[in-house]
Order: sequence, then C-alpha cells, then structure tokens
Amino acid sequence: MKYGKDDYVVVEVEGKTHFGLAYAKGKLLKEDGMETHDQQTIEFKSSEMLANLGKTPKIGGKVYGQTIIIYLDDLAVGWPIKVDIFREIDDREKRCLIKAFKKAKEILEKHDAFGFASCLSKIQVKPNVSRMQGAYHSKTGQEGFEDILLLTPTDLTNVDELVYYILHESSHGVWFRQLPRDYRARWSSSFNKRNDINRYGETELQELADIVVEITKTGVRFKDMMKELKSENPDEHDAFKEVIAYVKKVHHIDTEEFESLALNKPDKFKELWPVVTDNPMFKIDVTEYAMKNVKEFFAESFSYFLLGRKLPKDVVKGCKATVKSLVKTYE
Ligand SMILES: [Zn+2]
Repeated sequence: MKYGKDDYVVVEVEGKTHFGLAYAKGKLLKEDGMETHDQQTIEFKSSEMLANLGKTPKIGGKVYGQTIIIYLDDLAVGWPIKVDIFREIDDREKRCLIKAFKKAKEILEKHDAFGFASCLSKIQVKPNVSRMQGAYHSKTGQEGFEDILLLTPTDLTNVDELVYYILHESSHGVWFRQLPRDYRARWSSSFNKRNDINRYGETELQELADIVVEITKTGVRFKDMMKELKSENPDEHDAFKEVIAYVKKVHHIDTEEFESLALNKPDKFKELWPVVTDNPMFKIDVTEYAMKNVKEFFAESFSYFLLGRKLPKDVVKGCKATVKSLVKTYE
C-alpha cells in the first residue's frame, strides 16, 4: 500500500494496531500518546500498513479498532503558524482560543521566550481524552525543526486557563529549544534538591531522633518544636513530619503517644524511629504535577513565573536567571 509524507495511516506491527501520522518513510507518529508526554514513534514497513486515510481522515469513527481524530479547521492566532483544530468548535470558543494565544505570545515575547515558536511545525487543538491538557513534542527531522504543540483542554472558553496551558506547553518548547545546557543542569539540581530533601540518610535521621529527645526533655512539645523547625530548619521539619506519619502508619502510634515515649522511654522512642525514611516524598512547593520530572518542574515553574504566580524564592531566582540566558533565536 502506498502512502506519502503526512498521511494518516493504520499499521499493524508485531500484532499491534496503530493509528498515526506517517511523518517520514516507515515512521509513524502515534496519534494516541500525543495527550500524554510519551508519544511513541512506530517503525513500519509498507506491507504492514492496513489503511491509508490520507491527509485529512474522517473524524469520529474507528478503523481497525483505532479511533480517528482528524483535522476540522484552522485558526490564525498571530503565531508563526496556524492552529489546527481537531474538534468541533463554535465561534465563541474560537474567539477565546485566539485571545489566549495572543496573550500567551505577548507574555512570551516580553521575556524573550518566544524563539522556540520558530521550531514549531504544528500547533494542534484536539479533544480531551485524559487528565492531560496538552503536550509538547520536540523533533528535528530532515527538513529541520518539527516541534508540535498540542492542546487538549476540556474547556475552550476559559481564557485564563487556556493562557496557562499554552504557557506550560510553550515552556517545554523553551526547555528544548532555548535553554542553554548548563541551565538544564541547574534546573535538574533544583528539582533533585526537592526530591532529596526527605531522603534523610541514616546518620542524619538518627541525629534528629537524639535532637528531638533532648528538646523534649526541656519541656518543649512536638507542636512547638515543629513550628520552630519550620522556620529554622525546614528540611528537619519535613523529615520529622514524615517520621511521625511513618510511626503512625507502621506502628499505629499517634503523635501524643510518640511524644510521651520521647520523654519517658527514649530508648523505645528511638527503636520506633525509622532508620531511613524510605518514602521519597517530594517537597511540593511549586505544584504537585511539577514533581513528576524535571521537565514538568521547569514547565510548571516557568509558566507560573510568566504569569506572575507565587513561587518559592529560589525558583523565582532560577526563572529570572533563565530569562536572561535564553537563546533568543534558534537556528
Ligand atoms: Zn508538561
């Protein structure tokens, strides 16, 4: 069966059926997966093709069990390329989308962070099929940059939300196309710092147990200790909090009882105190989603920064430094 570049095809490879875009010879970019962050590329032989649906396949139905989502309209939004719409959209939704894209562009340009947009080969709006509200796919093909910015919002009429989604996905573009390598390393360490914070080593954790016992002896209650740690030593505060949760969960001992053990039976108290906090709890101070991986950490932080939303001090600092060092144009 024949196909051309950018035909939508259904293929069967190793017993599995896939629907997607034949973006190069023998290479299929899966349609499903665009909404997640791990969109797959499938290699296929032309003998493995079940159907060629052309460049604009019909929406809605299923072909060989594959749901076909297709292009319905495009929209000029003031970006270097038009936005392809793959869902039913009314005039009000169109106006909201245009407004949101214009606003997002304005914000990005103000921060010299719109350079990535020249790497975009597609901007797409598709139906929402999961919790994901979009995706950014970075790809360099033979003909140059072929990045795809995908939006899959549930609601197309909430402009503020749309602006945030666009900025989040754009931040992925900034990460791939405009962020100097050493800055990726900086963001990684900022992310890892948040991950490591509660992974207390054995020694540190045992020391903390001793500290807690000593402070308890002076008549200070856990509650007040927590308050003080929170301002004096947030890392210890978080570790202590995690220990209390651990003891409650594993030994069914509540805070009050644990506290009384610290005072009256310090040996028993130290016995219950975990050797390691094996629960790699993240310090969630940006968003929960930001803790998924460093790319999401950057995208959430940077889009929040662009929107002027509240962020931890070190993250704001990181964003400001990043803005100054962004590659302005990408070639
Ligand atoms: Zn993301």
